[in-house]
Amino acid sequence: MYAQGQNGLMSTWREHIRSRGLAAWILAAVMMGFYVDLYWFDHLEPLAQALGLRNRWFLYGGLYCVLMVVGGALYLRRHGNSRYNQIRISVNVLVQVLLAFTLPYVMPLLGGKEFYFSYFWPLKYDLLLPDTLSKLPLYLSIYALVGSLIAAPILAFFFGKRWYCSWICGCGALANTFGDPWRHLTSKSTRSWRFEQVSIYLVVALVIFMTAVAGLGGLVGDAHPGFVSFAGQTKHVYGFVVGSILSGVIGTGLYPLLGPRVWCRNFCPMAGLLGLTQKLGRFRIRVKDDMCISCGNCSAYCEMGIDVRSYAQSNLDFTRAACVGCGMCAHVCPRGVLRLENRWDLNADKDKQHLVVLDF
Ligand code: SF4
Ligand code: SF4
Repeated sequence: MYAQGQNGLMSTWREHIRSRGLAAWILAAVMMGFYVDLYWFDHLEPLAQALGLRNRWFLYGGLYCVLMVVGGALYLRRHGNSRYNQIRISVNVLVQVLLAFTLPYVMPLLGGKEFYFSYFWPLKYDLLLPDTLSKLPLYLSIYALVGSLIAAPILAFFFGKRWYCSWICGCGALANTFGDPWRHLTSKSTRSWRFEQVSIYLVVALVIFMTAVAGLGGLVGDAHPGFVSFAGQTKHVYGFVVGSILSGVIGTGLYPLLGPRVWCRNFCPMAGLLGLTQKLGRFRIRVKDDMCISCGNCSAYCEMGIDVRSYAQSNLDFTRAACVGCGMCAHVCPRGVLRLENRWDLNADKDKQHLVVLDF
């Protein structure tokens, strides 16, 4: 079945590791335990030192790269019969290996700063704080400010949030490669959708609040020690809850049980803000009229829990804030019903509805 290129879901439910069997629960427990140890203990430091790495975070980065390279190769074995998938996954892996591991490791060796070019605010939540910016060379401060506040939303406006969530981001890259075998586990229930609507915009509000408070704390300095202490605690709590528990322990540890986009769908503030921009912009999924045979492949493969089939059945083009533009719905459709597009709807059939779902 694998040798035929496109591997359907038929085999999935016979594999315990991919269908919430005992093996999946054990793997999830191991992954969550790994993240707990990584964030709050230093058992991995000796191994990192023995391997000649600067600290355990580079050990983690190296493991991340290995999982992505192996996961990417397996992904291409399953779904590589599409140029979009071939280019997307190759870029995913290259960006992580070069910009999120090699360059940050090498730059300090050459006298520069350790800097991660593929992460922007609000995903990297402390990037725009005065404390962080003041320690960076001017060109990196400008890169951080322009990349986070101008380039990211503009690119999302023209190309959808896929430019980041499905091509550049490290969280998305791990989900797309190592996490792909569990993509069908993402819940399509209305309850999950309601939870996502509340949780993701709550984190967006929290990161804006934390940035404002911590930024102000950095500016007022010693003049208001009480406020500085409150600002420091706010940043610490945000980092603990969102930066560690939601993104790592839960967001990645639960891949084998809840699918690979738990973090991206429910908690990532970058995905939340880019999703809002996406809905105002040019990205859409176009549906060919009266072609859908209701097989449900598109919905089953959607890693963001979007019921794509319902739009296809209703002949509705759609833009969803949650969609990361992975393209899998279009790829697995046996009738070629779906198409990802970045363009204004100038020549569209005027009678045809275009649905922009207001999911907030
Ligand atoms: S709707 Fe399609 S392109 Fe968007 S996240 Fe789901 S599968 Fe990927
Ligand atoms: S759009 Fe394609 S994949 Fe989705 S239900 Fe219809 S025929 Fe099946």
